[in-house]
Amino acid sequence: MRMKEDHLGKGELKPAYNVQISTSNQIITNYTIHQNAADIGTLGAHLKSFKEQYGYYPKELTADAGYGSEENYEFLRKEDIEAYVKYNYFDKEQRLKEKAKPPFHVDNLYYNEEQDCYYCPMGQKMTLIRVCKEKTDNGYERTIYKYQAQNCIGCPIRGMCHKSQNNRIIEISHKLRKLKKWVLSYLLSEKGISHLKQRPIHYITHYLFHFYHF
Ligand code: SF4
Repeated sequence: MRMKEDHLGKGELKPAYNVQISTSNQIITNYTIHQNAADIGTLGAHLKSFKEQYGYYPKELTADAGYGSEENYEFLRKEDIEAYVKYNYFDKEQRLKEKAKPPFHVDNLYYNEEQDCYYCPMGQKMTLIRVCKEKTDNGYERTIYKYQAQNCIGCPIRGMCHKSQNNRIIEISHKLRKLKKWVLSYLLSEKGISHLKQRPIHYITHYLFHFYHF
């Protein structure tokens, strides 16, 4: 694995495993050992191992943003597990929400579900130009939809909107878009907010995922 500790700065590979440990009320309830360096791909296998031992999935799960992905959210939703799992820009998004929504961010563009098109900050229609499939290391298949603006030439706010030479293209997974709404209903709930406020305590009193290399 490529390690965080890289004294020579050469991206050295060292023999290592990724160990995932979950706890409940400070008691270790499960651990699993993985060969993938990234935590994000370990959650499903860890929870399946939990179920093999106890015969059920945990009712709720808290994990840091390193586990927030479409694949993991879909798994948690399917198994009816309350997900207190942030996605990687959740904190930034919440901070910005208190000021003004960044109008150019893809999540803040208006989506017309009936016509399946987006509208850019200048009100221009962005039409669907391509649908692609991509697979994660676990073999999970994602569907990515690409939408493109009709004409960015001469747009007065182009410099703030995008850096591309061509008309702006955005990429969206509609499944993730919907799953994020679902996970936000937990994260922004009274319980979720209290979890986030007590994060240091919370993280050792609920299901916790750490990884250690050895
Ligand atoms: S640069 Fe293009 S996509 Fe961005 S606001 Fe202007 S017209 Fe719309």
